[in-house]
Amino acid sequence: MPSQIPSPKSGAPNPAPQSPPMEYRRFGKTEAMISVITLGGMRYAQGWNPPRHHLPKASIANCIGVTRRAFDAGINHIETAFGYMKSEHLYGVALKELGVPRNRYRMMTKGNPKNRDETLRLVEAQLKALRLDYLDFYGWHGINNRELLETAVKRGGPVETLYRLREQGVIRHIGFSTHGPLDVILSAIDTDLFHFVNLHYYFFFQKNLPAVERAGQKDMGVFIISPNEKGGLLWKPSEKVRRLSHPLTAMQYNGRFCLSHPQITTLSMGFHEPEHFAPALAILNGGNYFSPQDRQVDERMRAPLQTIPGFCTYCNDCLPCPEDINIPEILRFRNLLLGYDMKDYGRFRYNMLEGKGHWFPGHFASACTQCGDCLPKCPEKLDIPRLLMETHRTLFDRRAYIQRKIRSTGAKILKTVKDCFSSDKR
Ligand code: SF4
Ligand code: SF4
Repeated sequence: MPSQIPSPKSGAPNPAPQSPPMEYRRFGKTEAMISVITLGGMRYAQGWNPPRHHLPKASIANCIGVTRRAFDAGINHIETAFGYMKSEHLYGVALKELGVPRNRYRMMTKGNPKNRDETLRLVEAQLKALRLDYLDFYGWHGINNRELLETAVKRGGPVETLYRLREQGVIRHIGFSTHGPLDVILSAIDTDLFHFVNLHYYFFFQKNLPAVERAGQKDMGVFIISPNEKGGLLWKPSEKVRRLSHPLTAMQYNGRFCLSHPQITTLSMGFHEPEHFAPALAILNGGNYFSPQDRQVDERMRAPLQTIPGFCTYCNDCLPCPEDINIPEILRFRNLLLGYDMKDYGRFRYNMLEGKGHWFPGHFASACTQCGDCLPKCPEKLDIPRLLMETHRTLFDRRAYIQRKIRSTGAKILKTVKDCFSSDKR
């Protein structure tokens, strides 16, 4: 186990005595020992406001405070991405300010350049923003479909270029992150080009278990994206989830569920306030996943799955839908609604549809034309169009949808005006 990060020069307090000791796991074939909790860097104050290099004092203070607290807790792995707007720049400032020796933490960043030249330019810009001369882990960000997989791994393309940078010592290990379907993740793993994978896998989303297992067989590091938010909005669980997981918190239960898989190395958590640490650190349990007590909770947590009427097994046999409806994902929200009263989570995720491109593809269930194509393909004989519409009526947030449309129309108008002015100048 690596030694604790030394106290930063600003003299921050040591971990609260009740904080369990951090645990470290080998990040697959990278051989790096990293903390089982990663500091995810996408949520700092005003961090998404462009331009990326303009750093308000509040953002810097937020990043420094949180990074210091993370180091104090024994976290030695930081994750960011070019796509997280100011995040790399904020870490560049914060890490210099904290004066932490470079060999006491590992830095992961990500990007999705489409060709060789873009890759070289992007990595150079990222190193400059982070004020580092090498990156421990570089992930191709968002292998979310076959087209993106091909773009990433084509001959002479981005991943090959990352390997050239690796030979020069600029990047130590290459991986990918994905929000894509299981078959695409497995294909990416099977290229044998990657040392680690960042993916979704939680108690409430176990569809990617074969990818976790395949990655383990290939000795890749496995990094879990957003277990507390995408994993179920676990900081504000439904009353039913709170009751079922007692005496653990929902976050503790899910964190331990994930860490009970030996293939999984680390869980990324987007801390951005000091009070986020205590409940997250409480998942640690001296490496004992699951204890007898945790197993009792596990049994209680699984019980509702047996009682959901019209349970969708997420087998995917009904796909593709001609209207591009992600049937299993929408019926997953329905399962969670009926089994666990997870309405907040369902609304949060469902209303992301049609707004995130390949990061969360598919149309709302209201696009169903009742063509019936899916019905004979479902081994559970589910009345899919009816279940979809019921779910839509419960989860769709009309006001949020209208606001989003207004925002995107406003952005398009603004862009058109800007284009007009710039063409005037020409
Ligand atoms: S019935 Fe609806 S969900 Fe099923 S395939 Fe047709 S459009 Fe898609
Ligand atoms: S075929 Fe049926 S059980 Fe399988 S994912 Fe589709 S709706 Fe769910």
